[in-house]
Order: sequence, then structure tokens, then C-alpha cells
Amino acid sequence: MVYNFNGGPSILPKEVFEEASRAILDFNGTGLSILEIGHRTALFQEVVDELRVTARELMGLDAEHEVLFLHGGASTQFFQVPMNLLNQDATAAYLDGGEWGRKAIKEAKLFGTVEVVASSKDKNYTYIPKGYTIPPAAAYFHYTTNNTIEGTQMHAIPETSVPLVADMSSDILSHVMDFNRFALIYAGAQKNIGAAGVNLVVVRKDILGKVQRPLPTMMDYRQHIEAGSLLNTPPVFAFYVCMLTLRWLKQQGGVSAIEKINDRKAALLYQTLDSLPMFRPTVAKEDRSKMNVVFVMDDPELEKSFLATCKEHGMVGIKGHRSVGGFRISLYNALPLESVEVLTELMNDFAHTKA
Ligand SMILES: *Cc1c(COP(=O)(O)O)cnc(C)c1O
Repeated sequence: MVYNFNGGPSILPKEVFEEASRAILDFNGTGLSILEIGHRTALFQEVVDELRVTARELMGLDAEHEVLFLHGGASTQFFQVPMNLLNQDATAAYLDGGEWGRKAIKEAKLFGTVEVVASSKDKNYTYIPKGYTIPPAAAYFHYTTNNTIEGTQMHAIPETSVPLVADMSSDILSHVMDFNRFALIYAGAQKNIGAAGVNLVVVRKDILGKVQRPLPTMMDYRQHIEAGSLLNTPPVFAFYVCMLTLRWLKQQGGVSAIEKINDRKAALLYQTLDSLPMFRPTVAKEDRSKMNVVFVMDDPELEKSFLATCKEHGMVGIKGHRSVGGFRISLYNALPLESVEVLTELMNDFAHTKA
């Protein structure tokens, strides 16, 4: 038995792996592989349609918002967003809450002025900055909803009249939120949506078409909207896996149902950490992420020993990001509660034998 706590690409539902494997050999009884059908065939159009409709439904999007599936990962959105939304002489406001946000800031500076409204860099991004003001004239305000590497999460949507732009790569569809409040949302698929190679982008149409610079076709959201995310050959298999994963989520009862399970997983893990002094969570309590739980052990020998114990018991992907160290346990939608139960039991046993 393997328990997969990888940070991304990460665990997907077993049913998705099974169905996707079948489709490689024979897609829906056609005798053709999903890998060899044209992206403009009716067969594949059905996949794209279901993917789009299910994503809209799960997020409860209104008619003003379009859903796109693009290439290039979230890192491409770091520059595609300002390219489409930020004029050279304008200012965008950014929150510097973690390593991914910092990368987004760096790219945005290529296209206009960036005002960093607050940063938690002073404490290694172990908390979410609060009490900042967003300049009302900003073209948009960008933040990362969940800091995958550091293990912090924003638990409320900022109140502002400035258009909101969010990188939701690591917590999208993990809990209920009003997605319609955002002007633009992007998320790399490899955490909660499906297979790597796809980016989900939600965009409110009225914010587009306002930049003066000419946009390369593949970078222009409006062109992708017009082409229904089929401007060129999409990553067809990744689209398919995303469609299956969203279909699975819908079958589970959607976002509100998965949120209940996610809450139980996070509560169990944090309670265990708080009850065992050997393990030390690294982030401010009120900003703890329900998707990525980061902790360290103060004794490097014990840390090594615990890592080895976990490995023996089939736990993979628990080592912390290279910039933080310690451990990172990712609790994405597809991770069953049972995996967290097994892990926390192991932590309890370990703490008691080593105490
Ligand atoms: C994983 C991740 C990224 C990077 O995604 P790529 O698809 O590798 O570009 C960006 N932002 C956040 C919050 C992430 O978790």
C-alpha cells in the first residue's frame, strides 16, 4: 500500500487512473486511443464540453465569466495575466505571501508598475500579511490563495473594489468560495484538477481588451475564448484526465462535499501535530493551510529517523520543499481520509517510542 502525499503532481482518484488507462487503449468503445483522435473531432469536442461545463458547475460561475484551459502551467499565467491586464504606465497591486507570489511579481514587472502592498518575507512567509491597503487605482490586485510551499492559506477573500486576480493552483475546488468575485483566476491542474499540462483560467470578460500593447495570438485570452480553448492542439490527454477528475468530484457531491472531508483531514493532522511536541508546525495558527501542512522536527536525527519510518510504511512525498526543509503533507481532494489516519497513527507511535 502506498500513501501519496506529493505536493504536485499529486494523487488523483483511483477511478480516474483506471478510466484513463482504459481510454488509452480504447476510448469509449471506438477502438481508438484517446491519444490518436483529432482534437477537432466530435469525440474530443465532447470531452472539452464536459470539462468546461463541469468546471463551471463546480465553481457556480455566472454568465460574465469564461472558463479556459490553456498550456504552460501557472508559471505562464505569471506573465500572461499582466500582459493582458496591465498597461505599461499603470500599476498592479500584489501581495507577497510566498515563493509563488514572488515569482508572479517578478514577471508582472516586465509589463508595468508593481506595488507590493505587503509581504511576509520577513518571517520566511510563515504567515499571511494583514492590515494592508490596496491602492484603489490599481489595475488589479493579485494574490496566491494557498501558499503550497510554505503551507499558509488565505481564509477570506479581500474586500476591495479593485479587480481581484488569484493564483489558486493548490486549493482550487477544495472548499466553497464565491468564484464570481474574481476578475481572473488561474490554477495549474496538477494539484486538484487533474494531470499536469493544463491550466484552468477563469476570466470575467469585461476586464479584457483594455491593454494597449499588441498581444501574440496564443497569449490573448480573447482569442482563446473565441476558439473555445482550441486555438491550437491542446494537451488532449491532460484535458481528458482533468475532465475525469472533475466528473469524479461532481459525483462525490461537488465542492461542498469534498470540503467536509478536507476539513476532517486537516483537523486530524493539525490536532496530532499540536498534541506531539516532537513535531513543530511552522506557520501562524490562523493562517494554516488545509491543503499543505508544513512542520519540522527540531532534532535532525529524529527527522531522518521519522522520514525513514514513513518510507517503510509506504508514505511518499512527505519531504518538505527544498527551500523550507522538514515535512510537507499535501491533503489534496483525491487524498482519502484513511491516508491521514494511517499517517497520524504512525506519528503517535513514533512520538511514543522515541519519547
Ligand atoms: C504549483 C504551483 C505553481 C506552479 O505551477 P506550474 O504549473 O508548475 O507552473 C504556481 N503557483 C502555485 C500556488 C502552485 O502551487
